[in-house]
Amino acid sequence: MIKCVQLSGNWSIGLLKMRQFIITVIGLLLLSGCAANAPKGVTANGQIGAADSIAALKSQYQTLKQESFDKHTIYPTDIYPLIEALPENPRFKVSEVGKSFLAKPIYHIQVGEGNRHVFMWSQMHGDEPTATASVFDLINYIDAPGNQQWFQSWKDELTLHIVPMVNPDGAEQESRFNAQGIDINRDAKRLQTPEGRVLLKLADSIQPEFGFNLHDQNRFYTTGESDKPATISVLAPAFNDEKDLNVARRNAMKLIGLLNDSIQKEHPGNVGRYDDTYSYRSFGDLFSGKGIATTLIESGGHHNDPNRQVARWLTFMMLVQSIDAIAQKQYVNETIAKYEAIPMNQSRGIVDVLVKNVSVGFDKESQDSLENKQYLVDISLNLGRKLDRASIAEIGDISHGNAFNMFDMSGYQLLPIKGFEVSETLTLSTEQYKQLLSQGFSYFIDNDEMLEIATDLPVVKTKQALPERPQLHKPASFLFSKEGKIAVAIINGQRVAL
Ligand SMILES: [Zn+2]
Repeated sequence: MIKCVQLSGNWSIGLLKMRQFIITVIGLLLLSGCAANAPKGVTANGQIGAADSIAALKSQYQTLKQESFDKHTIYPTDIYPLIEALPENPRFKVSEVGKSFLAKPIYHIQVGEGNRHVFMWSQMHGDEPTATASVFDLINYIDAPGNQQWFQSWKDELTLHIVPMVNPDGAEQESRFNAQGIDINRDAKRLQTPEGRVLLKLADSIQPEFGFNLHDQNRFYTTGESDKPATISVLAPAFNDEKDLNVARRNAMKLIGLLNDSIQKEHPGNVGRYDDTYSYRSFGDLFSGKGIATTLIESGGHHNDPNRQVARWLTFMMLVQSIDAIAQKQYVNETIAKYEAIPMNQSRGIVDVLVKNVSVGFDKESQDSLENKQYLVDISLNLGRKLDRASIAEIGDISHGNAFNMFDMSGYQLLPIKGFEVSETLTLSTEQYKQLLSQGFSYFIDNDEMLEIATDLPVVKTKQALPERPQLHKPASFLFSKEGKIAVAIINGQRVAL
């Protein structure tokens, strides 16, 4: 059998060398007899999957990504109908591989007939759904009629094993934990969760060469010294305290180096690397020690991307590229230095909203009074897990802070925070709301649930009156005046012009 030339590692060849390179490649392909049926994979001209470039892959992705997954979470009821429809397609083998603590099915989807096995599992933490969307995008991609030549190129080499939701009970509750309140990813050794036992049993029976441990991280990570969000973070987990390298861990590092090259073309600077401190009770670390080349992929935040669709796309792209890279062993000649060059994740490198240069202090007449002292602060806001509720996270000098959304209130004066007490049924229209804002009311005290919101503008309502001055952990509803007139509202982290 003729062995085809592998073209890995040459994605970023210099322009000057390009002509010579192309001539050499064509020559090599002709010599090896592979030109006509070379598998479509990641090649020197940027081919990825069945597409001839990342841009082409992306445009194909837009047409076949699983619809209705652009949302903040994915529930078991979102994926079960998709999985139940798969057995009609002979390409995919579906089995119920176990049940959750509350007896929800956990499914295992297989595709391909090769002797080399690749295992990917997602949503082990129920509130981390991004990669679940990506694996369904991948299933659609594998099944797309236009990609059959690509599928044929690896299906006799690899078998993919996908568990798209390890923790359905947690997913239903939008919780990290399973129904026992246990973090499944800290149960790899004690194995008290049925979900953890399912995962381990499957891994032991498959004996995969590569594994993809798919998670979400909090959106406040940035990369290295940059102010860029870590939209994707990666790790080849350690299997002992010494952080030794075995063949599997080296292979994971080499693969990650390759994948990172591609992401840098799409979103330069948005990839971070996790600390590789050994976690004895976590699955990635355990699998790494079992000789599974394990890649942790964590989806993270991006600007103007509340549902992490950028990370979803990048994870999909990484999985497609991994199939090629593993099938064709493109990672073999990579160095682990490329992996080590990926900047480390920085926690708390970015906040949701930063309101800068806020002048607080309401009575210029009586500045002697402690009550009325003027001061200048920056205020950072946290939008909560669902990004729908701004609370005050920090008050003070955050002048070097970094935020997904920033407002500079220089030249404005913060008004005393004043609530409108709802004492009878009130249907709040946009017009009415703006009137109340203009009168100095920035939120609603609605003890008896009598406020009906009929505006698309952000509204803050509480049961109790808020302090007049910004206070930590309280809801954020600010009105600012300029030259004595109420001019701008920042309500729930959003700017409302008045
Ligand atoms: Zn997780």
